[in-house]
Amino acid sequence: MSVLDSKVPKGPIKDKWTTYKDKINLVNPANKRHIDIIVVGTGLAGGSAAASLAELGYNVKAFAYQDSPRRAHSIAAQGGINAAKNYMGDGDSTYRLFYDTVKGGDYRSREANVHRLAEVSGNIIDQCVAQGVPFARDYGGLLDNRSFGGVLVSRTFYAKGQTGQQLLLGCYSAMNRQIARGKIEMFNRHEMLDVVKVDGKARGIIARDLITGEIERHSAHAVVIATGGYGNVYFLSTNAMGSNATAAWKIHKKGAFFANPCFTQIHPTCIPRSGDYQSKLTLMSESLRNDGRIWVPAKLDDAKAIQQGKLKPTEIAEEDRDYYLERRYPAFGNLVPRDVASRAAKERCDAGYGVNATGEAVYLDFAAAFVRYGSEQAKIKGLKNASKEEIIKLGQGIIEEKYGNLFQMYEKIIAENPYETPMMIYPATHYTMGGVWVDYNLMTTVEGLYCIGEANFSDHGANRLGASALMQGLADGYFVLPYTIGDYLSDDIRTGPISTETKEFDEVEKEVKDKINFFINNKGTKSVDHFHKRLGKVMWDKVGMSRNEKDLKEAMVEIKAIREEFWKEVKVPGDANEMNPELEKAGRVADFLELGELFAKDALIRNESCGGHFREESVEESGEQKGEAKRKDKEFAFVSAWEYKGEPADAVLHKEELEFKDIELKQRSYK
Ligand SMILES: Cc1cc2nc3c(=O)[nH]c(=O)nc-3n(C[C@H](O)[C@H](O)[C@H](O)COP(=O)(O)OP(=O)(O)OC[C@H]3O[C@@H](n4cnc5c(N)ncnc54)[C@H](O)[C@@H]3O)c2cc1C
Repeated sequence: MSVLDSKVPKGPIKDKWTTYKDKINLVNPANKRHIDIIVVGTGLAGGSAAASLAELGYNVKAFAYQDSPRRAHSIAAQGGINAAKNYMGDGDSTYRLFYDTVKGGDYRSREANVHRLAEVSGNIIDQCVAQGVPFARDYGGLLDNRSFGGVLVSRTFYAKGQTGQQLLLGCYSAMNRQIARGKIEMFNRHEMLDVVKVDGKARGIIARDLITGEIERHSAHAVVIATGGYGNVYFLSTNAMGSNATAAWKIHKKGAFFANPCFTQIHPTCIPRSGDYQSKLTLMSESLRNDGRIWVPAKLDDAKAIQQGKLKPTEIAEEDRDYYLERRYPAFGNLVPRDVASRAAKERCDAGYGVNATGEAVYLDFAAAFVRYGSEQAKIKGLKNASKEEIIKLGQGIIEEKYGNLFQMYEKIIAENPYETPMMIYPATHYTMGGVWVDYNLMTTVEGLYCIGEANFSDHGANRLGASALMQGLADGYFVLPYTIGDYLSDDIRTGPISTETKEFDEVEKEVKDKINFFINNKGTKSVDHFHKRLGKVMWDKVGMSRNEKDLKEAMVEIKAIREEFWKEVKVPGDANEMNPELEKAGRVADFLELGELFAKDALIRNESCGGHFREESVEESGEQKGEAKRKDKEFAFVSAWEYKGEPADAVLHKEELEFKDIELKQRSYK
C-alpha cells in the first residue's frame, strides 16, 4: 500500500467539502491568539492566506524576498481568473468547471480537490470585488467575462491585461489591514533558506535578511510554503527573474515529497526568443487567442522568403495562409488548450514554416477581428457607408480597449506595430503544474508543513487551463487553508511558544551558514548564470516540449555533470554580510541543478504522453487522433511523488493512484 494518504473525505463529491467543514475541529478565538503561523511567500496564494489567517486571529509572520508583497510574480498575470458564476448564461456550472479542469489536466489530478476548487471559485470573485478589484464590466455594469483555451463557455473575469496586478493590490490591502493591527509581522527582503522540524513537525524556518546578510531563526506552530513555481529551471521562462524553487526544494530535502516534477506548461503565446544574451521571456496573454487567428504560410517558399526578410505577412494572400489550429481542431480552433497549441506551433516550425529569422515563430493576427468588431461598431453608430479603413479603425478601437496594454508591450519589445502587422509568437516555459505533494488539507508529507499556490502539485494535473492558476492560489489562501490548518492547530492550543534556542534550530542554521560560507570562499572561475544557462539549454533541448527516452537519460547525466562542475567552479563575488544578489542566485541555481535532474527522471518513468508532457514514444498511430498524444491510463493514472534520498537519481517513487468516480476518462479531443 502507498505511504501516501490523500485524506480525501468520504461521500458524494458534491458534499465532501461541506461535510468536511462541518466535522473538522475548530480553534476558539481566544486560543488563536496564542498560535503562530509562518507564511513564506506573499504572492496571491501566500498573501491571501496571511490576510485570512490573521483576520481569523492567528499571529502570522509573513516572508517575501522582494521589498513589498506587491512585487510578487503574481503581479504579472495578465489574462484573468476563472469562476463558475455563469454570468453569461452560456451553460456554465460548478460541475462544468470541475469537468473542464480535470479534462484539461488530462485526467492526472485529484477529483475531490478540483471539485472543491470549482465550488469556491465564485466566492473568490465576491471577495475580490468587495476589496475593490476593478474587474471589467459590460455595458450594463455587470462583471464581464471572456473565454480562455480548452473550454466552451466564457467564465474568465479580468481587469484589462492586468488581472494579477489588480488582484494582488486587493490582497495587499487586506494584508495591510492586518499588518497595521499587528496581526501580520511582515518580513520583506527575507529569504527562507530552510525549514526546521522538531519531533517530526515543522516548527520554524531559517531565513536570511537580504539587506544585511544576517541569518535569522523564526518559529511557529505551523509553516505554510507559498513560494510559486519553478519554471526558471529552464533559465528562460515567462516567470519573474527571481522566481525560484529554493523553499520547495529545501522542504523536499527535509521530507516533503515532490510530485509530478515533469509536468510543465509551455505557453503558446510568448514573444519569440531574440538571441543568446536574453535573460527572460515575455508572455502575450492567452486572452489574445479569443480574437487573434494563428497562422503560418501554407507554402514553404513563402516561409523562407519571410525568414529572409524578403516578404511581409500582409503580402500573403488569404488562400496561401495555413490557419493550422482551425484546420486541425475545428471544434476549438484557436482556443485549444495550451499544450495542444504549443505542440502544433512547434510542429509547423520544425517543418520549416516558422516566420522569423530563427524559424521559431508563428503569426497571431487580428486583421479579421478588426473587421468583425469594426463592422459591428459601424452598425451601432449608424454609419451606412463606412469605408474599409473606417471599419478597421473602429475595430482597432475595440481591440485597444480589450488588450491595449498588451499591444503596447509587444510594440515596445519587438518595435513593430501589431495593429499594422501580425504579432509573432512562440511557445515558452510558463507554469509548473508539478510541485510539493499535498493531501486534501494542503499539508505536505511533513506534519504541520503546508504548501499552497503554484508551489504545490495540486489541481491542474498534467496541464493547467488558462486563468486557473489565480483561481487555485486564491482558493487555497482565502477559502481552503484557513479551514484545514485550523483542524491541525486545534491540537496545539496548549503547546505554548516554540523556542528557537534548540539543537534543531542550531543544526539547520549551521547547514545554512556552511553553504553560504562555501559560496563566498570558493575560488571558482565561472558565474552562477553560466551554469544556469547551461542547465536551461539541456532542459529545453532534452526535457522540453517533446521528450524521448534517449534524450531524458542523457539529460540526467548532463545535469549531474553540470552540477558537479558548479560546486567546483562557481564564483560568487562579494560578501555574506551584505546585500549580495549573486549569492542569492547561487543558492537558487544549486537547487535548480538538483531539481532539474529529478524533473528528467520523472519524465523518463512516465512513458505516456499526457497534458504538457509529450513522449515521442507514445503517439496515436491511427484513426482520427493519428499523431496526437497517447495517454496510457492503465499504467499511468497516478501522481508520482518522489522521496528525497540524497542524489536526485536515487529519489524513491511513491504513487498516488488516481480514481475517477465522477468523470469518465476519455481521450481528450478538441477536433
Ligand atoms: C506572465 C504570466 C502571466 C500569467 N497570467 C495568468 C493569468 O492571466 N491567469 C492565471 O490564472 N494565471 C496566470 N499566470 C500564472 C500565475 O500568475 C501564477 O501561477 C501565480 O500568480 C502564482 O502565485 P503564487 O502566489 O503561488 O506565487 P508567486 O506570485 O510567484 O509568489 C511567490 C512568493 O514567494 C516569495 N518567495 C519565494 N521564495 C521565497 C523564499 N525562499 N523565501 C521567502 N519568500 C520567497 C516571493 O517573494 C513571493 O512573495 C501567469 C503567469 C505568468 C508568468
